Amino acid sequence: MSDNLRPSILIVDDISANRIALKRLLKNMDTDLIEADSGQEALCKALVLKRLSLILLDVQMPEMDGYETAEFLREEKLTRHIPIIFVTAVHRDKSHILKGYTSGAIDYITKPIEPEILVAKVSLLLELWRLRFGLEQEIRVRNELEVRNRFLAEHDVLTSLPNRRHLFRKIETAISVANRKNNLFALLFIDLDGFKSVNDTFGQKCGDKVLITIGERFSKLIRKSDTVARIGGDEFVILFTDIFDAGLLTNRIDQVLIAAKKKIVMQQNIVNLSACIGIIVYPDKNDDAEKLLYFAEVAMGKSKEAGKNTFKFFSEEMDAAAHKRAKVERLLNYAIINNELSIHFQPLIDLKTSLPVGAEVLLRWTNPELGSISPEYFIPIAESTGLIYEIGEWVIEQSISRFEEICKLSFFDQSINFRIAINASAMQFRNNDLYRSLQCAIDDGRIKPQQIEIEITEGLLLDDTDEVRKQLQSISDLGVSLSVDDFGTGYSSLSYLKRCPIGTVKIDRSFISGIPETKEDKILVRTIIAMAHGLEYEVIAEGVETKQQLDYLKTEGCEIVQGFYISKPIPFDQFKIWLSEHLS
Ligand code: C2E
Ligand code: MG
Ligand code: MG
Repeated sequence: MSDNLRPSILIVDDISANRIALKRLLKNMDTDLIEADSGQEALCKALVLKRLSLILLDVQMPEMDGYETAEFLREEKLTRHIPIIFVTAVHRDKSHILKGYTSGAIDYITKPIEPEILVAKVSLLLELWRLRFGLEQEIRVRNELEVRNRFLAEHDVLTSLPNRRHLFRKIETAISVANRKNNLFALLFIDLDGFKSVNDTFGQKCGDKVLITIGERFSKLIRKSDTVARIGGDEFVILFTDIFDAGLLTNRIDQVLIAAKKKIVMQQNIVNLSACIGIIVYPDKNDDAEKLLYFAEVAMGKSKEAGKNTFKFFSEEMDAAAHKRAKVERLLNYAIINNELSIHFQPLIDLKTSLPVGAEVLLRWTNPELGSISPEYFIPIAESTGLIYEIGEWVIEQSISRFEEICKLSFFDQSINFRIAINASAMQFRNNDLYRSLQCAIDDGRIKPQQIEIEITEGLLLDDTDEVRKQLQSISDLGVSLSVDDFGTGYSSLSYLKRCPIGTVKIDRSFISGIPETKEDKILVRTIIAMAHGLEYEVIAEGVETKQQLDYLKTEGCEIVQGFYISKPIPFDQFKIWLSEHLS
């Protein structure tokens, strides 16, 4: 009998002579005979023994007797169905025999044992066990086969990635999810450049390995809800779901191109490949899976025409935007090192005294090829590539150095309240770099904490993560004040602000621009000021462009204003002149 069909029998008796006697009687049976000298040991062994087909259980044992042991065995899921035969020399009366059956035994043998009867009963039970075990195995094999067949129907044999059929199902699901959630998804049709020559030069086996490696690399780039499929020789498709901004896709497309371009080392051979990608973003006028995939392929064809290692969006408009973005992304990497960044200053004026009380620092980027690019365009790109950390640090360092210069100006009175307001991106609160830069500058005596204000976005306040809260609190604990920028455009409420260490709200300029014509804006501005004051916040109004706006804000009790009416953001040298004119 093959080893995996050989059953075992557990002989439980506290007297070893009895166990030996039973073993001798059963020695010719095709089984493994395992001993246990107590109820406890029997329970332990029954739980771990494989193919346990029968338990011969002594009734009279110290501590845990046979009845109790049997009850435990019946309660446990793993041992519930193992047949038990009680073996006893003393409890032969009807009541004990009944007790044996109720506690889970299927038979009751009394001593002295008739060897033929024992062997006959055990043989019968073993035969039953074998039939059941064989049946179970057959069912298991069939189930496995079915699972495997189902897998093969939906997966590529070589890479085990989803195949075309599976992909269609995923695209259809993505369409309905995107419709329901009102978001986007992207299909990337990827075709490797020069794959044919890999097969020709190194042989098909090597080609297969390349495809497996590429598939694995792509799989590492996706989230759980995304899909990587192989739908043809060297054709892969990636479905990126849950996209909110198609502009942010270039970053992920880049990762796919890089993954394809990374060299593949195989024994003595080095394979260098690249890929062309065609992209379609849903919603699109093509709204079924087949058309979407077809047009992604069409875009891939155009990408091939443009050369190796390129991508093309199906929509021309998106394609232009994505390529511009990709260029900006590339050039932004060198902006600091090439001295292309600078900071401008926009004065903050106290409405009561009409004197400057500080300035907001606004980042500028001028590139020889691209010209001047708005921070509204390049900051989100810096965020998506992670470059914002380096840029943010640069802005802090520059701002503080410039502030030190201001302090040295002859007309600048050190005792006045003067602050620099620095914008920080939400990502800068995910680690403590920002906090540490501020702390160092303060510890080195370069600036006092009350001379720095960090402007944060409303969205950050809605971020409830522990790290963000901790960073906000640590920065506030330094004595640096925090203000909420563009207030009124996000979703935060004043009551929500109360939970954060905020000192100032900056009313967004979209509300100010409606003054005095738009009644609603006037009411909104009045309400924001009144509520902010009720909660003891200072109020800054940004985007003040006219005298009427300034007068209205003054009447409503707004403390500080900023805007083109006072000054546009200006380079540092001009700002020093402006200061000398307004402070003297
Ligand atoms: P923000 O922080 O709300 O900055 C105010 C923006 O309004 C500035 O645009 C400024 O030039 C503009 N502005 C000021 N007064 C007026 C006015 O009277 N009328 C009009 N129409 N506009 C006015 P800018 O410089 O283009 O900056 C845009 C945004 O970029 C900033 O909005 C800020 O969110 C972000 N940003 C700028 N510098 C940095 C920085 O160093 N770090 C980070 N993370 N973001 C920055
Ligand atoms: Mg700001
Ligand atoms: Mg603002």
